[in-house]
Amino acid sequence: MRTRSPCAVRPLNAPKEESTSRTRLARTCPASVNHAPAAPCSNARTTPPEHNARMTTPRILITGASIAGPALAFWMRKLGWEVVLLERAKAFRRGGQNIDVRGPGRDALAAMGLLDAVKGRNTTEQAWTFVDEDNTVIARFGQEEFGGEGPTAELEILRGDLASIVDEAGDGVEHRYGDWIETLHDDGAGVEVSFHSGAKERFDLVVAAEGARSRTRELVLGQSTTLEPFGLSSAYFSIPKGQNDHQDARWFNAPGGRSVFLRPDAQGRTRVVLSIQEQPSGWDDLEPQAQKQKIAERFADAGWETPRVLEGLWATDDFYFHSIELVKMPRFNKGRVVMTGDAAWAVMGSGTTLALIGPYVLAGELAKGGDIAAALDRYNDVMRPFVDKAQDIPSWGPKALQPQSRAGIGIQHALLKVAASPAVRPLIARFASGGSGLPELPAYPELTGRTRVG
Ligand SMILES: Cc1cc2nc3c(=O)[nH]c(=O)nc-3n(C[C@H](O)[C@H](O)[C@H](O)COP(=O)(O)OP(=O)(O)OC[C@H]3O[C@@H](n4cnc5c(N)ncnc54)[C@H](O)[C@@H]3O)c2cc1C
Repeated sequence: MRTRSPCAVRPLNAPKEESTSRTRLARTCPASVNHAPAAPCSNARTTPPEHNARMTTPRILITGASIAGPALAFWMRKLGWEVVLLERAKAFRRGGQNIDVRGPGRDALAAMGLLDAVKGRNTTEQAWTFVDEDNTVIARFGQEEFGGEGPTAELEILRGDLASIVDEAGDGVEHRYGDWIETLHDDGAGVEVSFHSGAKERFDLVVAAEGARSRTRELVLGQSTTLEPFGLSSAYFSIPKGQNDHQDARWFNAPGGRSVFLRPDAQGRTRVVLSIQEQPSGWDDLEPQAQKQKIAERFADAGWETPRVLEGLWATDDFYFHSIELVKMPRFNKGRVVMTGDAAWAVMGSGTTLALIGPYVLAGELAKGGDIAAALDRYNDVMRPFVDKAQDIPSWGPKALQPQSRAGIGIQHALLKVAASPAVRPLIARFASGGSGLPELPAYPELTGRTRVG
């Protein structure tokens, strides 16, 4: 077991991509987060009672360094906790395509002070268009028409850019790569963790932010979590920009429940999403090369600009494939082991938004001080309406967006034309600009020093 001296100044280690463990230069115990005079090591409002007696800094282990993990690390450092952020991959993962942040997720980013940084990396997408085989536009939905809450959101960013921005905001977080939890034992006062590397350590709280297929969640809860197939699988990668690629994203449907979606980025490349209305068995467990092969075979006769997309597929090294599953669990924690982000509630469409909200709420409830168990109960209570709303997605969604037959595509195009017509557009705009429909984010003055969010 490691000993810790509170308020130690930690060294700046090697850059992320090359290191297996890294901590930026920062005091382990920052000033009190509720803007009281600087507290030397701990803050009575944020520190579990048992720690006041021991006079040590509380420790949290967060597994998964994507969006939810670094967001929680950021907030827990604000609370003065010692934070270990563990990532199974050997280095920080910068891959991924266009994602968006909406409604209360935007407020959570604003609370972190990161809104301008995220806006600064906008993908520059202006609209979604639906096109036919001849590249004729069937319908166009511009960002300006929906107050930033339509198909193209105000905050469109590449996943890797958002992950980096959030991760780099967390001062004094100890990063570890290439390791994961093998076993954990929660004795009520803390959690004993054994790592794959052989190390053993004790933490006050363990949070799994490992994505939909979280192994730590399985260690703690067994098979009791429901993974509900959504009936859609997607491959994400980037290709060189083609002559027809511009700031309007283009969506093309081919029979067999296939769609080819081309989106701009701010780096001069085109971001591709190839989707199939199906959950093919075993594809998630294949190596990327084998996944590429399956995708290439499936899209070989899709038509339109697909041949150049498939050419790019083989050349790309930023490939990511997943079958979409909704994670459903009655509680987001068991004792001192907590789930957040996709590991707790994988959704379709608002995963990143919820991956920013969950950590904010968890840290906000812990910031109120007192009993950790009570804070975790409140975390469950506050998050449940967000998750229920986000998972209330019509199951016919993939069937409507990726029709199986040519006749189905014809019907889809006819409906899109109506939706994009001047008569119906204001109705769509009103519906869409109502935000994502998620509840409002609660304010946590103990965490942010502010009584209002946003
Ligand atoms: C490389 C990558 C690319 C992505 N690209 C897209 C995309 O293009 N479009 C899209 O919609 N979504 C994409 N996603 C998913 C998207 O980030 C999430 O749906 C959403 O943002 C919620 O994020 P999260 O942090 O909860 O989980 P995730 O983003 O799934 O991140 C989980 C993290 O935990 C790590 N991990 C897994 N198991 C362990 C373990 N046992 N111990 C430690 N670490 C572990 C993973 O390597 C990963 O970094 C991508 C995710 C990743 C990791």
